[in-house]
Amino acid sequence: MLSWDQSPSLALMRQERAWVEVNPAAIAHNVRQIRSLLSNRTELMAVVKADAYGHGAITVAQTALQAGATWLGVATIPEGIELREAGIDAPILVLGAHHMPEQIRAIARWQLQPTLCTPRQALIFSEVMGELGDRDPLAVHLKLDTGMSRLGTLWQEAAEFAQLVQGLPSLRIASVYSHLATAEAPDQTVAKQQQQRFETAVAQIQALGIIPPRLHLANSAATLTDSTLHYDMVRAGLALYGLYPASHLNRVVNLKPALQVKARVTQVKTIQPGVGVSYGHRFVSDRETQIAVVGIGYADGVPRNLSNKISVLVRGQRVPQIGAVTMDQLMIDVSTIADLREGEVVTLLGRDGDQFISADDWANTLGTISWEILCDFKHRLPRIAVSQPLGDRTLEFNV
Ligand SMILES: *Cc1c(COP(=O)(O)O)cnc(C)c1O
Repeated sequence: MLSWDQSPSLALMRQERAWVEVNPAAIAHNVRQIRSLLSNRTELMAVVKADAYGHGAITVAQTALQAGATWLGVATIPEGIELREAGIDAPILVLGAHHMPEQIRAIARWQLQPTLCTPRQALIFSEVMGELGDRDPLAVHLKLDTGMSRLGTLWQEAAEFAQLVQGLPSLRIASVYSHLATAEAPDQTVAKQQQQRFETAVAQIQALGIIPPRLHLANSAATLTDSTLHYDMVRAGLALYGLYPASHLNRVVNLKPALQVKARVTQVKTIQPGVGVSYGHRFVSDRETQIAVVGIGYADGVPRNLSNKISVLVRGQRVPQIGAVTMDQLMIDVSTIADLREGEVVTLLGRDGDQFISADDWANTLGTISWEILCDFKHRLPRIAVSQPLGDRTLEFNV
């Protein structure tokens, strides 16, 4: 482990106003927990799109692969290239749809595996791959729409689609997959209907003598809910990061949140009763109040709609955030904390002592989902990998 003085980047880090701590040991733990639900014939794809839900794609991908994941999922081509440039050679499925010749050449050049959603797209891929000349057929993944009404060929047209792709010499079908719209709902009626449609479509494909080497349908929620949805691979995102897709699933496995958000106190002052705080004076003190300014704001990913609605942790105590969250800074009421100093660390998400604040708390307050909270942390916040246990402030390396 490096000390501050041994690394220039750590010396810089030490002065950061705000940062995201990521615990690779928690990611590895979550991978093993998810794997424990899977049979030996089911592979685990670590979904690391959107910079691994804000956690830092390279560190998460490397950690997940070491811990038992065998595939990676990204949304975009640049996300895939970032992993390849880091030396990761695991198979990477690009979940988004691409059509431009430049994009197709990049997919081939970086050995990414594309999702094909329409016959037209398959023909463009075939043409561009044909122009690239003598090389192995490109592994492609056929996406079926079984009820999400997002990407994919309608399940009723799956057999025709598969037959077309099968006939294109420059492409090779590597999997057939679909995505569930309501897997996190306690009522599984719609998910079961999607599963039924998926199986019908696959049976029709197989009846043509086309045997897809891999079938997959499950996201995190489906992985935790029903082993009949696992097939040959599950595509886990949220659970990898230690959050549960829904509260009724939080007993299935033991997940550990891998991300914490911290910032420093930049000023401490005392205001008199009746004094307004921040833009719009949406908070007015009713007594003499010691407040602290904290160096993090909505430009870092703390939603402005949380203004006046959340607590943060300081020295293991829960204290209220007050006034409007501003672009780079927010204020907290630290009247209960004696001798608070500039430079002390404030935990916005994560653990301090026996207090813990989860992305689910923010999501519930805002009426959104934890996925969105995690993805909102901006690149202005450095990602720092930390050692176990969660909440330990020892820094190991810069993510
Ligand atoms: C994002 C995504 C996933 C992962 O979803 P989680 O709910 O985060 O597990 C799986 N499959 C597809 C197609 C996705 O876009």
